[in-house]
Amino acid sequence: MTDRAPGSDRDAETTPDSISVEGLRTYLQCPRRYEFAHVDGLEGEETDREDESTVDRVALLRRALCDALAEAAGDVDPETLAERATRRLATLWDDHDEHFHSRAQRRHERRVLEATLEAYVDRVGADHAAGIARLEDEREADRPLVGPDLELSTTVQSSSGGPEGGSGAGESEADADLAPVTLEAPVDYVYADGSSLVAVRFVPTLWPLSYLRYRSDWERVEDRFVDHFDPEADAFDPGPAAALLETAVILDGLRNYRDRLGLTERTCRYVQIPLADRSNASINWVRETVETDIEVVDLTDVYVDHHTFGMTHEHRNETVDGRLESVVDRVRAGAFDPGERWADVRDEECPDCEYRVCCGDYLETEVGFDA
Ligand code: SF4
Repeated sequence: MTDRAPGSDRDAETTPDSISVEGLRTYLQCPRRYEFAHVDGLEGEETDREDESTVDRVALLRRALCDALAEAAGDVDPETLAERATRRLATLWDDHDEHFHSRAQRRHERRVLEATLEAYVDRVGADHAAGIARLEDEREADRPLVGPDLELSTTVQSSSGGPEGGSGAGESEADADLAPVTLEAPVDYVYADGSSLVAVRFVPTLWPLSYLRYRSDWERVEDRFVDHFDPEADAFDPGPAAALLETAVILDGLRNYRDRLGLTERTCRYVQIPLADRSNASINWVRETVETDIEVVDLTDVYVDHHTFGMTHEHRNETVDGRLESVVDRVRAGAFDPGERWADVRDEECPDCEYRVCCGDYLETEVGFDA
């Protein structure tokens, strides 16, 4: 590791006013990467153009679907919704300057996006548009229900607990006098579903959720989540751990949003919908057609612990919320040394990291191997 004071290798002037859920995810993957990206503002070396292209295409589809939902204004006929979204996608696609190997590839990628759009409308889009229309009628305050990138936020005070909930990085106690930090999470729209208010985020794929996709409740994921934060345990799962922290931020941010809308009776839920998951795609290269399906994942059930729910009657999880506070404390305290998790970071994160060329921790190890 680089030679810095353990646990607090930055001074107080680096304390952030806000942290995004993307930043929290980065911190769980590697605290040093968080420092490069979110404290120093360094852009990393490009490591994977394919990923960048996927993110750009998801942004196009996100924009097209959100615009169609916003334009629907109570008209929830699936065909009309699909037509609106397809028309909007066509306009956005005309301005999309991604480099393709051939026109055939460009046409194919557009067909994949259109098939995903149709699958979304068939599977949930029309219902969600109806749920948005219901909220339009019920809300008391005029705030947007459809994004993209509708910002939800919550505030975290200093954790009263010790550092056990952090990423395992650093060793210092958090400073009890640290200022509150706002946590921010984007969602793409909110809609009413029965007695619930649901926040939806379009994501590229569901693979970062890992085991969360296949387990239905908190009791079945608690041990693995807790183990991620325990340097003594043989577990390093930043993807699902970050998804649970994100769920905590979004549900609390949604409760704040709900109150501002005047919808105090609704419980809050959080759903992810993947727009670049090709595992369900069926491609006919002769007829040049693409069909696909969409998997919708509600992260609420796997996050809620029934003990906390029984105490608060809200979708909360004391363990996840505690770890969230501890991670925020570590960021505020400038604990960016990978510390006791170095072996996991080196094996799992360094190989694809865009900061390898400037990272002292990594370069030190490389020199060590060569010696
Ligand atoms: S190279 Fe490794 S240690 Fe350095 S920032 Fe990237 S993941 Fe972290």
